[in-house]
Amino acid sequence: MILPVPATKRKSCVYPLFDAHPALAEKLPRLALSDWPTPVQQAGGFDGKTAVYIKRDDMGGTHYGGNKVRKLELLLAAAKTQGHKAVLTFGGAGSNHAFATALYAREAGLRAILVLGPQANTPSVRRALLRDMDAGADLRHCPSYDVRDAWAEIAVAEYAARDGVAPYVIPPGGSSPLGAIGFVNAAFELKRQVDAGEMPAPDVVYTASGTMGTTVGLAVGLYAAGLSARVVATSVTEPPFSSIDTAKRLCGEMQRILRASAPDFPEPPFETLKFTLREDFYAPGYGIPTHAALEAIATARDAAGIALEPVYTGRAFAAFLSDLREGLLDGKCALFWNTYNSRPLPEPKATVTDLPETARFYFTTPDTAVAN
Ligand SMILES: *Cc1c(COP(=O)(O)O)cnc(C)c1O
Repeated sequence: MILPVPATKRKSCVYPLFDAHPALAEKLPRLALSDWPTPVQQAGGFDGKTAVYIKRDDMGGTHYGGNKVRKLELLLAAAKTQGHKAVLTFGGAGSNHAFATALYAREAGLRAILVLGPQANTPSVRRALLRDMDAGADLRHCPSYDVRDAWAEIAVAEYAARDGVAPYVIPPGGSSPLGAIGFVNAAFELKRQVDAGEMPAPDVVYTASGTMGTTVGLAVGLYAAGLSARVVATSVTEPPFSSIDTAKRLCGEMQRILRASAPDFPEPPFETLKFTLREDFYAPGYGIPTHAALEAIATARDAAGIALEPVYTGRAFAAFLSDLREGLLDGKCALFWNTYNSRPLPEPKATVTDLPETARFYFTTPDTAVAN
């Protein structure tokens, strides 16, 4: 059982997981990349039968918000304390995770190597590539995901020879068990906001699942923090990135890390967590804009005042709207966890000729058409 820490005894209010389990603070170094908590906000523009709230992780981060900040606080701190000089990570060409890693790694004094692969072409993919360059990343765009790991091995060997130490490798989306623990803390943060009366205890939490660190971290954290909300994870990638097997493995590995330092941390089997993985808004493929996502983006803007995008959050909001319209949320409290950045970014300074040649084709080929 987790006993709430009385406010008067709290030393640090910013990382509630560590307040609840102080032994974790000693074992898990953290770089502070944001002012926590992110706000929760009521969204009034819906049918009135459902209490709708938004968790504004889009406003987190010192320069760039969204869900990757919570993971990078732990991952970059681990890289630094283990003596690495660079981090290497993966993503699609327009990966928000890759950009966030490049940006915050540079701030932490680490070089970022981004091994990216082909993605549906959109203006935001092109902007993301240029921003990766602005952030000083060593960007390597491989022609297919079949050769991705081989490209990564080459980069690891190069940097190991140059730096005397291999880069710290961060999996796609930052969803290592350590990175996902950032979202266990996020659930403890939400519990504090509920206890403070900022919102009622939610019945259901909607969010997108790309590599599952966010959703599984939340599910483990909600249970441990004593919130009974169901996590509805809208899959926006295909297995093994999003799958129940991946969720189970991640859940087990996270609990092992947590219990190694905090033996009283609860250990619910994955099957007992309230977790739904839904596939009905994924098709026809990763990053391909859909009419349902675009309609959800417009509704989110008009009814909740938030700016979403079609790859992740537009699809997750479409799933939420579908349940709302079917009456499945009548009388309930629903929380939409906004995982996308809303901090304003300057226009990219880099231009197409700064990119490696293998990534320039996005600028000479048409945008991918919107799908049904
Ligand atoms: C990466 C990302 C997600 C998915 O998070 P995972 O932890 O990989 O499942 C959701 N929304 C946005 C905007 C993202 O960039």
